[in-house]
Amino acid sequence: MTILALETSCDETSAAVVRDGWVLSSAVSSQIKLHAEYGGVVPELAAREHLRNLIPVVQTALREAKIGRADLPVSQGAQQHVPADLELDAVAATQGPGLPMALLVGFKAAQSIAFALRKPFVGINHHEAHLYSPWIRSIASSHEPGSAGVPPARMELAGETPALPATSPAARLRGGNVGGIFFADFTAFQPNVSLIVSGGHTMLVKVDSELKHRVLGSTVDDAAGECFDKTGKLMGLPYPAGPEIDRLSEQGNPKAHDFPRPLLNDPGDDFSFSGLKTSVRYFLRDHPALPDNAQHLRDLCASVQAAIVEVLVKKTIRAAKRNHVRCVTASGGVTCNRALRRELAHACECEGFVLRLAEKSLCTDNAAMIGILAERKLLANIAPTSLDEEIKPGWVLA
Ligand code: ADP
Ligand code: MG
Repeated sequence: MTILALETSCDETSAAVVRDGWVLSSAVSSQIKLHAEYGGVVPELAAREHLRNLIPVVQTALREAKIGRADLPVSQGAQQHVPADLELDAVAATQGPGLPMALLVGFKAAQSIAFALRKPFVGINHHEAHLYSPWIRSIASSHEPGSAGVPPARMELAGETPALPATSPAARLRGGNVGGIFFADFTAFQPNVSLIVSGGHTMLVKVDSELKHRVLGSTVDDAAGECFDKTGKLMGLPYPAGPEIDRLSEQGNPKAHDFPRPLLNDPGDDFSFSGLKTSVRYFLRDHPALPDNAQHLRDLCASVQAAIVEVLVKKTIRAAKRNHVRCVTASGGVTCNRALRRELAHACECEGFVLRLAEKSLCTDNAAMIGILAERKLLANIAPTSLDEEIKPGWVLA
């Protein structure tokens, strides 16, 4: 089954083609630089950029996946360069949650393509797609030591990956923004507790089986990514501060300052990060010159990061134990964080849990995970989404 998937829920315009679990192409156009000037995502600008970028991004994804001319909704000029290898069987898009104006662009475009091609359409919950993204692994890197930031022993590679024929489209995949060859390996699937941790959300989900899950807890205020970004802004770091705090922390002392670990000892699975942010604000009010010293700034970053990471790791492990699963997964932009990857790997090693971390390039918003989930749903005979359906900006994962 070959599926074109679109993702425009926030600040990344992405299109991907997936087929039988393979990611044939995945193009992502990030708007981070545009929003950096404003210190956060500006919804109107995001929507405008999606409108501007969607067609080139879709064209790139279709071209790299060698989708046949008859199915290619692009200009005459572009069609001439495309061999007629594959045809689309379905179209998918993120239906929610996300910024309304941003969601509308990809969702309506995908519905229109499905309508024009007379193919089924699947509207996908962005968070549900995150739940399965850790099962998409990079074939190129998965056997290398330390791939995905964890020791190879803990990367469970049960089940044989079907051989990738030299002539298959995935073998010809070049570039894209995802880089590498990706395959969704559901033969290795096992019940798990999944941590989704991004700029807008932080949640723990019990995934009982494929397509069956239950949310255990989520943030009652700020998301972990928001905490990275907002505390970083207080320190004078550019938006988004998460990657910068990660980088500076590598040479900082995580024990230099003792920041609160909100809800760490609460028996529930909810998170709260606004208190930590406030604590950093008061700390900087009392030590305004501290970020001017490079080493002091690194120590501050490492201390803030340690507080966030400890809460995420301890609560995830506790939820996994309480729910009697042997597997932990993590996805979302903050899962790029090196300390989080290391600490999760260490904690899972100690508990004897299998850890599956989403590949870094699939942690942030991407259409590949949308297409992979859409394919699983169609294979499970779940009814396609009506072309009359609308976006669901506040779609809460149940
Ligand atoms: P959203 O869907 O909310 O845009 P994404 O999944 O795109 O979230 O992730 C973006 C968030 O991830 C931002 O808050 C960013 O700071 C954070 N982030 C990305 N890389 C890192 C990192 N290495 N360490 C910490 N946070 C990170
Ligand atoms: Mg994003």
